[in-house]
Amino acid sequence: MIVIKSMQEFLLMQKAGRVVATVLNELETAIKPGITTKELDEIAESTILKMNSVPAFKGYGGFPASICTSVNDEVVHGIPGKRVLQQGDIVSIDVGAFYEGYCGDAARTFAVGEISPIAQKLLQVTKEALKQGVTMAKVGNRLSDIGHAIQTHVEANGFSVVRQYVGHGIGRKMHEEPQVPNYGLPGRGPRLKAGMALAIEPMVNTGQFPVKILGDNWTVVTQDGSLSAHFEDTVFITDGGNEVLTAQEEI
Ligand code: MG
Repeated sequence: MIVIKSMQEFLLMQKAGRVVATVLNELETAIKPGITTKELDEIAESTILKMNSVPAFKGYGGFPASICTSVNDEVVHGIPGKRVLQQGDIVSIDVGAFYEGYCGDAARTFAVGEISPIAQKLLQVTKEALKQGVTMAKVGNRLSDIGHAIQTHVEANGFSVVRQYVGHGIGRKMHEEPQVPNYGLPGRGPRLKAGMALAIEPMVNTGQFPVKILGDNWTVVTQDGSLSAHFEDTVFITDGGNEVLTAQEEI
């Protein structure tokens, strides 16, 4: 069942979204060659706690940190640790936080210093694909219209969309119904209604779409070693369109 949220719940989700966006802003400023992924996790956790919120990922299925940090060919679920970010790396940061029992969830892939033209294009295309998906999240459209728009944009640019991981409904729980794939035919699945909240999250590879999980049982990497990017926003569908709850203000 897809939960329809009330106005009161919308306001709480707005606050959770703002916590997540604030963390992303702080990390964007902090990301430089020489910083470790563990240091980024510490910044994120202290910001979440300072904003009277709870890290959503820490302890989720046993995950040991407050953010996921996935570098280069790592797609999602990378564990923060001693890894030092190098000039030319790309790092995907996924942040989740609960505020007053409601969850916000978002991800961005950031450049570490100067990056290659292909990496720049990957970040640009994945960000655009998320935007195309968000545009389709409106009353009257069908769920699969979102993934179709994402896949179309990604493949038109010569990249591929990860199939094994998908977006999700979000609210009192981080993962609610429905699943939100980033691919597929349009015009399928439930009709979208005001009061639905969705985490839309394309994962895009420069090479082929298959992925595998490393021996730490968390880190997902591209099978072919190609670069991967991940952009995610928590989106609330309203009568007039939608509101991106985790939008970052320009910094
Ligand atoms: Mg998510």
